[in-house]
This record gives sequence, structure tokens and C-alpha cells, in this order.
Amino acid sequence: MWRNLRIAVLLLVLIWAAGHTWLERIGSKRWQEPLWVGIFPVNADGSQAAQSYIAGLDEREFGDIEKFVAREAHRYGKTLEQPVHIALYPQVSHMPPQLQHDAGMLGIMVWSLRLRWFAWRSIDLGGRAPPRVRLFVLYHDPQLLQIIPDSHGMQKGLLGVVHAFALSSMAGSNSIVITHELLHTLGATDKYDPGSGKPLFPGGFADPDRKPLYPQEKAEIMAARRAISEHDAELPPTLAAVVVGPATAAEINWTRP
Ligand SMILES: [Zn+2]
Repeated sequence: MWRNLRIAVLLLVLIWAAGHTWLERIGSKRWQEPLWVGIFPVNADGSQAAQSYIAGLDEREFGDIEKFVAREAHRYGKTLEQPVHIALYPQVSHMPPQLQHDAGMLGIMVWSLRLRWFAWRSIDLGGRAPPRVRLFVLYHDPQLLQIIPDSHGMQKGLLGVVHAFALSSMAGSNSIVITHELLHTLGATDKYDPGSGKPLFPGGFADPDRKPLYPQEKAEIMAARRAISEHDAELPPTLAAVVVGPATAAEINWTRP
């Protein structure tokens, strides 16, 4: 009897988790009220540079993300004045679980559960309302790091882990990475070739109808890079040179009523 009871409880928990995830997902992209996104800074390397950068952060740092989402949502006929609100939360003192580069399906599943647990246990809301989407932004001293690790945003749990540089001249490109991962949590998919990093045609192009096609003037947010020629692509400096393409717009429910 105890065994049956345990199985029944486990089943209920699983049904609740699935239902909760589903409701969260639907709710996050209705675009009827501002989507509250929380930034949780983390000192990724324990450096003084990252620590003083985090200490100097304020919400103005992320104002370009709010403006970008508003500008692009309005292009797709969304009338909400501020579709996304970014709020800065207190620094998180522990590192979120890392996803290994070669993690298989099972590895990703385990990591995703560990991250949900971490997000539930390790954050301090500082007396503010809990955000809908939680993004852990891991700041690195650029002196200690040449190549930045992969960032991840996931729809399950509306969570993201973003690697960023602790340097104000990199704030524009940090915002591009944060926005890219934010849109992943809302269901947008990557639109670049994982091998070469080049934008995929046509979904990863800001203006796939442009003649001549190259160079593209802007980048598509889920491709991240702007195609300059058939063989070359470059990262734009700020969100001013980035758009949300129609394929990404459809994935995040920016469809005209
Ligand atoms: Zn991506």
C-alpha cells in the first residue's frame, strides 16, 4: 500500500510540474502585460574586476534591452508600451550549475533540473516581487578569459545562464547575448550554423529579400551575427544594429491578431 501511495504522490508531483511549466510558458508570451525579467549578477571568476563591475551595475545598464524589445514588438503590431521590464536583483554568491560542452540528452536534462533547483534555492529577491524570467548573468574579467563559455536560455523554468564581460565597453554586446538567451526562454530557436557560426538563410537574416543580399545591414537576434558576405559574418556592437526576424517573431508569439 505504501508503495502505491508513493507512486501516486510522485505522479501528482510530475503532473503538477508539467502543468506548471506549461502554464508558465503560455503566460510568458501573451504580451498583454510587461514581462518581468530578473537579472541576477554572479562573479564568474572571483576577480576584483568582476566584483567592482557588479557593484557599479544599475538598471540603466539594461535599458537598451527594454527599448529593443519594445521597438521590435511594435513593428509586429504589438501595442503594449513596455513588453519587457528588466529588474536588477541582488548578486548571487554561488555559481549556477555548469552545462558541460559535451553533455548528451541525459546530461542536459539533469543540468536543467539542477538549474531549476538552484534558481529556487539560491536567489535573494531583496524584497522585490519574484520575476517571471530569471537570468543569471556571470561576469568575467576579460583579462582572465579569452573565449567566453556558451550561454544558455531554456523555456523549462524560464531560466537562463549568460556569460558576460565585466567591461563597460562590452555592455552593448553583453545586452545582445542577454536578449538572445531571453528569447530562448520564450521559445525562440537558434538561427545560425552551429559549426561555422554563420547566419542561416533566410531565418537568420535581418533582410533576406535585400538585393544584393550582402552585406546585410543588420543582424537577426537569434543568428546574432550579421552576414557581410557569403563567407563572413560579424557580431554587431549593440542592439541598435539588430532586429527580430519574422521566424523568431512567430516563435515568441508576435503574430498579428
Ligand atoms: Zn542560442
